[in-house]
Amino acid sequence: MHYRTFGKLGYEVSAFGMGCMRLPRIVTGDQAEVDRERAWEMIRYAADHGVTYFDTAYGYHNKTSEEVLGEALEGGRREKVKIATKQPFGVMKDLDSGGGKTLLENARRNLENTLAKLRTSYIDVYLIHNIGAGDWEDIKSSKVIEEYEKFRSEGLIKAIAFSYHGDYAGFKPVLDYYDWGMCQIQQNIIDVDREATEQAIRDAGKKGCALVIMEPLRGGNLAVPPAPVQAVYDSSPVKRSGVEWAFRHMLDYPEVSTILSGVSTLEQLKDNIEIFSRPDAVAGGLSDEEKRLIVRVRKQYLALKSVPCTGCEYCLPCPSGVNIPQVFGKYNDGVMFGTFEPARRSYMFQVRAKQDAGLCAACGACEKKCPQHIGIIAELKGAHDKLKGWIE
Ligand code: SF4
Ligand code: SF4
Repeated sequence: MHYRTFGKLGYEVSAFGMGCMRLPRIVTGDQAEVDRERAWEMIRYAADHGVTYFDTAYGYHNKTSEEVLGEALEGGRREKVKIATKQPFGVMKDLDSGGGKTLLENARRNLENTLAKLRTSYIDVYLIHNIGAGDWEDIKSSKVIEEYEKFRSEGLIKAIAFSYHGDYAGFKPVLDYYDWGMCQIQQNIIDVDREATEQAIRDAGKKGCALVIMEPLRGGNLAVPPAPVQAVYDSSPVKRSGVEWAFRHMLDYPEVSTILSGVSTLEQLKDNIEIFSRPDAVAGGLSDEEKRLIVRVRKQYLALKSVPCTGCEYCLPCPSGVNIPQVFGKYNDGVMFGTFEPARRSYMFQVRAKQDAGLCAACGACEKKCPQHIGIIAELKGAHDKLKGWIE
C-alpha cells in the first residue's frame, strides 16, 4: 500500500480509502440492510492490510453505516486508522430529527450520536456533507463552521472538512472561504471537466488542503467498460482492467491524498488493495501515451450517451418539480456504462427529493425552451421506466 500526506495536517494516510456507502447488503422483499458479518470481515481485512482511511456518513445505509464501521473497528483497530464522517446541513436544519431546539444544538446532538455509533471519542475528519451552491449562503450565516470549531477545541473532532457536488463556479468560493482541513470532490476519468473539475484538484493542492476523491469509478460504472470503450483500452500495449485504469488516473495527481472506493465484496477489496500497492501506482506514474489513452477513453464514453442533453437547464424550472437534466444525466450514465444499476440507486435520491420524471404532467413547457429540441416528455417517460424501483 502506498501512503500520502494528508495536506497541511501532515499525517500519512493510505492512498486507498475504504468507502462505507456500498457495504454488502441483504435484500428481503422491499427491505435492505447491511450484511454485518460480511461488512465487518471486509473492514477488518482492510485495516489489517494497510488501509488507514475509512469514510462513512450520517445517512449511509439508512443511517447504519457508522454503526457497522464502529463495531468492526472496536477492539484495537480504531486507534490505527483515520475515520472521516459527515453530517448534512439539511439534517442539522431538521429540528424534528436530532432532538435539538436550534440548528447548532441539532448539529451537536447528531455528532454525539455519531460518536456513539462509531464507538469512539473523536472523529479524525468531520465533514459538512454535500455542500451545494444552494446551501452555501445559509451554511455561512448559520455559524455551523464556528460550531465545528468548538467541537474541535473540545477534542471531539480533529479536522473540519466538506464534501461538494456541483460545478467549479460553486466550489471555488467554498474552498476559499475557510482554512479547511480537507475537501472531498467527485473526480474520475469522465468528470475531468465536469463537477468541480480537475481545476479544483489544483486549487486544493495550492492551498495545502488535503484532497479526497470520491466516485473514482463513478458509482462502479467504470469497472466494466462497454465494448467500444474496451476496444480503446485494448489498443494500448499496457494491459489493465477498467478499475485499475480509473484508479491510476486519479493516483497520477500529486495533490490527491486518498481515493475512496465503495467496495461491496471482499474480492473487490482485495483487488483494490493490490492495485494501490503496485510499485508504479504513484503520482506522475502514467506515461504521456497512457494519459492520451485516457483522453480517448473519455471521448468514447461521452460519444455513447443517448439523450443529447447538454445540462444547460434552460428547460427549468418545471412546474411539477422535475429536475430534467438530472434525469437525463442518470439515464445517459446507464446507457453510456452499459448498466443501469448504479444510476437506479442514484435516481432513488431524486425520487425522494420529489424531482423525478414520474412527476411529469406533460404540460410541454420545457420542450418549447430546449435548444436541443429534445422530445423531453417521451424521453422522460423512457428514462423513468429504466431508472425507477431501486430498493435501499
Ligand atoms: S412537460 Fe413535464 S417535465 Fe416538462 S415542464 Fe411540463 S411537467 Fe415539467
Ligand atoms: S433545455 Fe434541453 S439540453 Fe438543456 S437541460 Fe433541458 S433538456 Fe437538457
